[in-house]
Amino acid sequence: MTDDTGDGRMHVQWERICDRIRPEIGEPAFQSWLKPMTVREVLDGVVRISVPTRFMRDWVVAHYAERLKDLWLGEEPAVRAVDIFIQSDYPAPAEDVDDPTPAETETPASVSPAAAAAPVVVAFSDSQRISAPLDPRCTFDRFVVGKPNEFAYAAARRIAEAETPPFNPLFLYGGVGLGKTHLMHAIAWNIRRRDPKRTVIYLTAEKFMYRFVRALREHNTVDFKEQFRSVTVLMIDDVQFISGKESTQEEFFHTFNSLVDQGRQIVISADKSPSDLEGMEERLKSRLNCGLVADIHATTYELRLGILHSKAEQLGVEVPRKIMEFLAHKITSNVRELEGALNRVVAHAELVGREVSLETTQEVLHDLLRAHDRRVTIEEIQKRVAEHFNIRISDMHSARRARSVARPRQVAMYLSKQLTARSLPEIGRKFGGRDHTTVMHAVRKVDELREHDSNFAEDVDLLRRMLEG
Ligand code: ADP
Ligand code: MG
Repeated sequence: MTDDTGDGRMHVQWERICDRIRPEIGEPAFQSWLKPMTVREVLDGVVRISVPTRFMRDWVVAHYAERLKDLWLGEEPAVRAVDIFIQSDYPAPAEDVDDPTPAETETPASVSPAAAAAPVVVAFSDSQRISAPLDPRCTFDRFVVGKPNEFAYAAARRIAEAETPPFNPLFLYGGVGLGKTHLMHAIAWNIRRRDPKRTVIYLTAEKFMYRFVRALREHNTVDFKEQFRSVTVLMIDDVQFISGKESTQEEFFHTFNSLVDQGRQIVISADKSPSDLEGMEERLKSRLNCGLVADIHATTYELRLGILHSKAEQLGVEVPRKIMEFLAHKITSNVRELEGALNRVVAHAELVGREVSLETTQEVLHDLLRAHDRRVTIEEIQKRVAEHFNIRISDMHSARRARSVARPRQVAMYLSKQLTARSLPEIGRKFGGRDHTTVMHAVRKVDELREHDSNFAEDVDLLRRMLEG
């Protein structure tokens, strides 16, 4: 390992390299492939970089390794090679390990860890025992990061690695199945693993309420309070559940205040932002608002594809790229459904003993796909987009290349790709017989503009919602 100053320098160099390569390969590719990389060390002229999955390693080696080496050479003339390896192969320093110990937290006092990991005995304190069990699959390692969740992910990591609360509370919010619970479990695993003496309690708001009500009934509220008040980190999931439940809110508010006053970390999740939570007391809302509020946005195509690759790898199966792309296009609701779809396809293939094909995928998922089939036609899209940008529908087919018509046309092509099942050549034909490469270019262009121009992005999203709704 390099020393502190060497480390700092290495990271600065890496940032500069990222700044160089980003415009070269485009934002989506950067987010998918370069962003998840971690530079570990530069030793004897070898730059060692880790990536989360085998698939990523192969892809990065095939597509970017040479360029990365050249760029490193520009930074550090002594560099001979860039070594890209899979994160799990890396002997991580103690504080970096977040591979969990599968644990039944309700009963046992100690558990032994997975065979591969160094033997550590995790003993849980009394308070820890009231925590709900953690899903061993929900670790940071297995969380795929993309634009929609990078902020929430970074905030969660900060908390997991901090000695004292960097912000309090952390309030995570977002729609169903987008990874809130996953991130909370990951925080808990990480902290427990690093320092088993620190008490982490993870509970759903429902369970919190249930325990509170029971304590009331058993005249045990003093103990109840004590349990919570001695934690290092308290995480309450799905806090919207206590909307309208006044006495639970009251208790929660007091527990919350006392923990914050003692410098303990609180992490909360909900399906809405604090201000939008209905049936919550104002003072609780404003308390929830005063830390860091991080929202997880709906998934993008890139993120869905990344998640599919990662899940397939965890399942230890090879799924053809075409199938992954198909699923990423079609199952857009949330990650849970996406995972479910992949599992079904894989299970089916194993049962019938045949390779996964596009046909069987459609068959196996016909119910899901029907629900997602938005039935928007290209004609409708052209009409809406033309109206929106105030151009003639005929300009969708015309050869005019002025930006005032070319841009809306590109938007319409982009939406056609996103909202219909039409192939690129089919879409091209509907736009005055254009080539499929023109459509592909339009899709890329719009993606790129969306990244850099938030007004434009809003416009496109608005159109999309109108067409979907
Ligand atoms: P939420 O609590 O927001 O409803 P979950 O955390 O339960 O959602 O996520 C639903 C499922 O999707 C879980 O199995 C979780 O592991 C998975 N998941 C969500 N986001 C990601 C991600 N970014 N990378 C990998 N898996 C994810
Ligand atoms: Mg959840």
